[in-house]
Amino acid sequence: MPESLETFIAGLPKAELHVHHVGSASPRIVAELAARHPDSPVPKDPGALADFFSFRDFGHFIEVYLAVVDLIRDAEDVRLLTYEVARDMARQQIRYAELTVTPYSSVSRGIPDRAFLEAIEDARVSAERDLGVVLRWCFDIPGEAGLASAEETARIAVDLGCEGLVSFGLGGPEIGVPRPQFKPYFDKAIAAGLHSVPHAGETTGPETVWDALKDLRAERIGHGTSSAQDPALLAHLAEHRIPLEVCPTSNIATRAVATLDEHPIGAMVEAGCLVTINSDDPPMFGTDLNTEYGVAARLLDLDEGGLAALAKNAVEASFLDASGKTRLAAEIDAYLSAWQEQRPQ
Ligand SMILES: [Zn+2]
Repeated sequence: MPESLETFIAGLPKAELHVHHVGSASPRIVAELAARHPDSPVPKDPGALADFFSFRDFGHFIEVYLAVVDLIRDAEDVRLLTYEVARDMARQQIRYAELTVTPYSSVSRGIPDRAFLEAIEDARVSAERDLGVVLRWCFDIPGEAGLASAEETARIAVDLGCEGLVSFGLGGPEIGVPRPQFKPYFDKAIAAGLHSVPHAGETTGPETVWDALKDLRAERIGHGTSSAQDPALLAHLAEHRIPLEVCPTSNIATRAVATLDEHPIGAMVEAGCLVTINSDDPPMFGTDLNTEYGVAARLLDLDEGGLAALAKNAVEASFLDASGKTRLAAEIDAYLSAWQEQRPQ
């Protein structure tokens, strides 16, 4: 990638729609959490920690992920993680993010539900005030934990809720975890005014995306990678402007796609789908949102204008209110104009 494009991406104001809370813990944040819990097996020395984090394979990703989960033991850990994730976002010029949070993991490990909600809300308000990053939440069901986790996630989202919560999701493995069984919980969340954003078609075929659309009334699709195998599905997504949350490096890391050059993002764009670029679990996959924009620039052969349009797709696909969308889109346009004036083509 030309250096100028890299610089352009680094300064481009961005929104991110598919990024996980615990999965965003960078080595810097993990070191801070580990310092709070000296009995943890996570290395404390920065060199060893960097090695612990360097992505090897999917099994290693799970190992790192679980080690980080084990470091989140009280409400202060939750607050620290959330605020520090926002700091890493601010450095990448991410102005708005819908962070996927899994309250079930923390609450089932003993953090009281209300204390958990207060901690993320405290971090959200502070991050907006101090760092200029607007955070919103998607509470997701960890699919592998079954219907009990769905019941509990819906209870926390709907019966308790919190100001920053905008959507309801479903993550974890897809194989052996059919989407339709979660319909009652999505019905409850949708009736309470939450948007439906399940993961679907990441590791299984396009029929899972259809299930997510029909049974879970998905308004956006997490990944949706296998949609490209079904032209009728791509046409449906394009016609109804149902956005795809594409996470290229994650798809390679989890082996959902063999190589970046085989990634179906081009087919999605060609079919007229609203494609957004996201980082999923960035430090654990050795990436960040800026890197993912660089990957997209290469795969879609984008110049600065194309990258700005991609950033605006995420604004359009977000659950920001109308004035927030207008403001962020205008900021992206202004950034592009200033760049083009400074570097006449
Ligand atoms: Zn995800």
